[in-house]
Amino acid sequence: MAEKTINYDPSCMDDYDPHSMAADQAQQHILNSVRTITETETVPIRQALHRVLAQPLTSTINVPSHTNSAMDGYAIHGEQIPSSDSAVFKQVGIAYAGRPYTGKVATDECVRIMTGAVMPDSTDTVVMQEHVEVNQDNIRIDAMQKPGQNVRMAGEDISQGSQIFSANYYLQAADIGLIASLGIAKVEVIRPLKVAFFSTGDELVSIGNELKTGQIYDSNRYTLWSMLTSLGAEIIDLGTVSDTPEAVEQAFVSASQQADAVITSGGVSVGDADYVKSTLEKLGHVNFWKVAMKPGRPLAFGQINDAFFFGLPGNPVSVMVTFYIFVQAALEKMMGRSARQRLRIQAISLSNLRKRPGRVEYQRGIYHIDEQGKYSVTKTGRQGSGILHSMSEANCFIYLPMGSEGAQVGDEVEIWPFDSFY
Ligand code: AMP
Ligand code: MG
Repeated sequence: MAEKTINYDPSCMDDYDPHSMAADQAQQHILNSVRTITETETVPIRQALHRVLAQPLTSTINVPSHTNSAMDGYAIHGEQIPSSDSAVFKQVGIAYAGRPYTGKVATDECVRIMTGAVMPDSTDTVVMQEHVEVNQDNIRIDAMQKPGQNVRMAGEDISQGSQIFSANYYLQAADIGLIASLGIAKVEVIRPLKVAFFSTGDELVSIGNELKTGQIYDSNRYTLWSMLTSLGAEIIDLGTVSDTPEAVEQAFVSASQQADAVITSGGVSVGDADYVKSTLEKLGHVNFWKVAMKPGRPLAFGQINDAFFFGLPGNPVSVMVTFYIFVQAALEKMMGRSARQRLRIQAISLSNLRKRPGRVEYQRGIYHIDEQGKYSVTKTGRQGSGILHSMSEANCFIYLPMGSEGAQVGDEVEIWPFDSFY
């Protein structure tokens, strides 16, 4: 019945599967299922880079702590600026950054002042040194000056008691500097997420060994290691596991006992041995999906003991695509990091892109920005899910939605730059 209501060319039917799940539905299901870690730890701020705040952060001081000069010049009382012609002030001292002038300043007096120095006595205005005429101990200023100019007010950057960051804020370079500017040495962050992973497949050999006929090097563990490291996860690499029920069960048990999340590659597609399924059924609750996407159709997700499980396809490109599309946001939620948006940009396609409707595709592209700021994109060579080179060469996904029938040269397509995935 379903076939009758859909007008696809019969030759396309092998790609269209009425039982497959939409990619965004799988994404939502995964995101809604995972839980955020609640344990926290207090660390020195340098160790808090790329970590997630457990509590809101409030300033206990004003920044800057004192009203100070924004320029090298002369501090005066603003109401003494002449309304016409000029006025003369007698210099009574010098204020340096970190070495204040502590004496009094009468209304017809001024203090030589350096950038960052505390404003002396009741002065409230700084005249730039370029705008004064110096005559021994006296300076002359004109009527162009404005009261209050060139002064940074105490608390202008951050006022005492104000909230700087909310809980679940992900800390980056500027944030660590900002926290230091408040005099805060340690912060409470969510503990690191522990992720265990292994590869399955008898054809896999770890680097350092020689390849025999029919064998390939295990690359997925290295891409996974790299993607997880960029996310700031604590990594437990369980190596390659042979395709036997005992080995696979043992690896799953060990992984789920040590980690918050378990990721595997390979062994979840229809043709794979059923013992993976039966092992997972014994240990937890796992769903096996066929997702309407390319690459990366088979995907398993669920729970093994207390750990969340992501079973990714074996093909090297599929591993990366499914990680970025399904796993990364889920792990970020587990880490406590508030949701972020990825860049999506319209670009002119410089390639013909073949695609059949009925699934979303994440083709690999290289985008370019011309001198006018316009984006164009060329697809990387062959797009097979085993061709990892296509991913390495690319700097973006070309996202082709469910109903798309591909694109011609000159068509507008949506690209997702990789820069916003890290
Ligand atoms: P599978 O999903 O196990 O059927 O694997 C699909 C394809 O990906 C096969 O060609 C495997 O040889 C390949 N593959 C599986 N795991 C890995 C891995 N860890 N590194 C590189 N290729 C892999
Ligand atoms: Mg396999």
